[in-house]
Amino acid sequence: MTLAWGIVFLAALLLAAASWLWAPPLLLEWRRARMRRRPFPPEWRDMLRRRMPLLRRLPADLQLQLKKHVQVLLAEKPFIGCAGLVVTDEMRVLIAAQAALLLLNRRTGYFGNLRQILVYPGAFIVERSTLEPGGIAREARQALNGESWQQGQVILAWNAVLEGAAAPDEGRNVVIHEFAHQLDQETGAANGAPFLGRRERYARWAAVLSGEFERLRERVARDEPGLIDSYGASDPAEFFAVVSEVFFGKPQELAARHPALYRELATYYGTDPLTW
Ligand SMILES: [Zn+2]
Repeated sequence: MTLAWGIVFLAALLLAAASWLWAPPLLLEWRRARMRRRPFPPEWRDMLRRRMPLLRRLPADLQLQLKKHVQVLLAEKPFIGCAGLVVTDEMRVLIAAQAALLLLNRRTGYFGNLRQILVYPGAFIVERSTLEPGGIAREARQALNGESWQQGQVILAWNAVLEGAAAPDEGRNVVIHEFAHQLDQETGAANGAPFLGRRERYARWAAVLSGEFERLRERVARDEPGLIDSYGASDPAEFFAVVSEVFFGKPQELAARHPALYRELATYYGTDPLTW
């Protein structure tokens, strides 16, 4: 009898510990499933068709996935207007829909580190201090269309968001760029290597991306034009963000001219924009 009660007590204790450990993720998953079931307002759908031509090219199942991801992102991520901007549904939905391109076909934590999306009407000015030779710090003002912070913020210029969405074949998209940085920053400071899952995938990723990065740096040093924007030569983190833009915007060119890089990105993103 005593032993039986002991077992019951132990089982209850284990159950309590298990539910304490599992409840938050289960609750979160339940809440997200509910968000994904929400009907997608027709005015959002019409706005996206108008503002984001890429959406119409997506296969129907991916369009549906994307709309579900938009619902979760809108429910979880606060959008904050800056410099007098009043954030509208159009802004929130268009930003979330482009960010959701990076989440299709993948197990996703919905940019787990991201706490806020700040939106400016246009380019915003940041003060950057750079170290000059001799160790003297110099303050420089820079106008930016986007930034991603590891502390959980993405900052976007609304006019650049509109431009990127309107011209999907340009291979330039500030939302894809900054949210790719967020994926990279999920594993610590941005270094061009997002979470890849199995260990053996990191070696191939590093070999392919660092090889392509070096070739880009050489091309930029020779001042030659090319498919991948020279800004990607800044560092491996910018390289990953820039080639993510090209992957979704110019998949044909990327696959033809950098097939190994295209394959790595297609495996990571779980999608093949060549077929869209
Ligand atoms: Zn960047």
